[in-house]
Amino acid sequence: MLRSSLLLASRSATIRRFVEHNPLTQRVVGRFVAGTGVDDALNTAAELVHSGLRVSLGHLGEDITEVAQVSTTVQAYESVLEALAEAGLAAAVEVSVKLSALGQSLRSDGERVATDAAYRICRAAGTAGTTVTLDMEDHTTVDSTLGILRTLRADFPWVGAVLQSYLRRTETDCAELAAEGTRVRLCKGAYQEPESVAFRSKNAVDHSYVRCLRTLMASSAYPMIATHDPRMIAIAGTLAAEHGRGPDEYEFQMLHGVRPDEHLRLARAGHTVRVYVPYGDDWYPYFMRRLAERPANVGFFLRSVTTR
Ligand code: FAD
Repeated sequence: MLRSSLLLASRSATIRRFVEHNPLTQRVVGRFVAGTGVDDALNTAAELVHSGLRVSLGHLGEDITEVAQVSTTVQAYESVLEALAEAGLAAAVEVSVKLSALGQSLRSDGERVATDAAYRICRAAGTAGTTVTLDMEDHTTVDSTLGILRTLRADFPWVGAVLQSYLRRTETDCAELAAEGTRVRLCKGAYQEPESVAFRSKNAVDHSYVRCLRTLMASSAYPMIATHDPRMIAIAGTLAAEHGRGPDEYEFQMLHGVRPDEHLRLARAGHTVRVYVPYGDDWYPYFMRRLAERPANVGFFLRSVTTR
């Protein structure tokens, strides 16, 4: 109920204005978001890399409505990739990209616009010496995103995809991407989806997650296990060991600001751990999805905006 309300609020312009213009919100947002500029992103990434972690930087923004916004987003990625290479961080820091920020859902020719823009980002990533992962958004975008992934992989075989275990279709998608040897970030899913396409109970989502994990671990794909769930993490560790995978043959991924002690614990135990670090001005929808994931985050947020 609370999750649905917060996910609906993530698309409300009125609530967005209230939350964005509340000066106290910044304190809470700062827990999940690295800052607004390239320097903020780089400083946070460097700090994490120095503590033994890897990073995926995501420039915040989604669902653009004007084609002119596409070049701005591409340029933001080109700048950060260049800066990563200059700072010697490209081996440990990749980028994550939302295709809706590149025009995927524009009425006129959106898919082509997004493919061309993603191609430019992949070229910049290749030059910098790092990789790109395509975030997955709501279920209406999955076919298009996987289509664009396959187009990009023809030239950039290291482009990764995200699959969401709450979608009923995901086991089939997972088997296909596993057979193609893709880098796959497996998460549970963060959007408001109808029951016709998505499992509703935590139990069903978790079972789907484990089935997909089994498929990925048994394949030539590179599994990226994106979860904070201790059970999923333990099962992934066991499956990796059963399949004889070394620490460079899979990785754990978690969000910046969520269970930071666990990031370090896993890294110190010898696992590869990558932290997803968002940065930029357009933090509202990302922030609301984080609140929706965990009621404790809402309490933390309310306490921060009502007390000094
Ligand atoms: P949940 O089922 O939310 O939580 C399970 C358990 O994990 C909890 O009971 C608790 O024990 C622990 N836990 C969870 N959160 C916390 C916390 N804040 N503090 C302490 N313990 C906690 N979603 C998409 O739809 N598309 C994407 O492209 C995408 N990319 C992602 C990339 C990364 C690297 C990660 C980590 C997540 C991404 N997500 C994405 C979000 C994801 O779908 C989930 O919404 C989010 O990760 C919460 O699910 P969970 O697996 O952590 O487990």
